[in-house]
Parts: sequence; structure tokens; C-alpha cells
Amino acid sequence: MEGAPMIRHWWQPAEGRRHAYDRTTITPGADQMFTALCGTEVTPTASDFSLDGPPSPTCWQCDREIRVRDGWPAEQIPSLAAVEAMP
Ligand SMILES: [Zn+2]
Repeated sequence: MEGAPMIRHWWQPAEGRRHAYDRTTITPGADQMFTALCGTEVTPTASDFSLDGPPSPTCWQCDREIRVRDGWPAEQIPSLAAVEAMP
């Protein structure tokens, strides 16, 4: 019997965007660089771990990468060009 599936990918605000990372290999910390799913190296600050203030906008490249890695149906995975055109 397996337990409840672990949520593998999680979100971390850093450098003005909410990026995603792989929890099995990365534990974000203040002033510690990590590579987000989109391939960008980002460094969150202590304030990025605070829940104060408005949420950072989602990094859509990370959002797409989660869908690809988690095996979402193709029609629910936007093209890279569409993602890059998103604000
Ligand atoms: Zn990202």
C-alpha cells in the first residue's frame, strides 16, 4: 500500500515572480540560489518567505513545466510560444 502521493512541485516567490521547484531536490532558503523548473536561477530573500504584501505574479514557464512533468493532457499544456507571450 502506498500512502498519499507527495506533492512534488511547489511554489516559491523569488525576484518578483512565483517560481516552482522540485521538492525532492530543493529546499528554498533566504539568500540561497536555486534553479526553478523554468531553468532560471533565482535567489529568494527573507521577505519572499513572508505572506505580507501582494502575491508575486506566476512564472508561466514554471507552470507549464509542472504540467509537462506531471503528465497533464496535451490540450492542457500551452505551447512555449503562448507561455512566453503571457504577462
Ligand atoms: Zn520560473
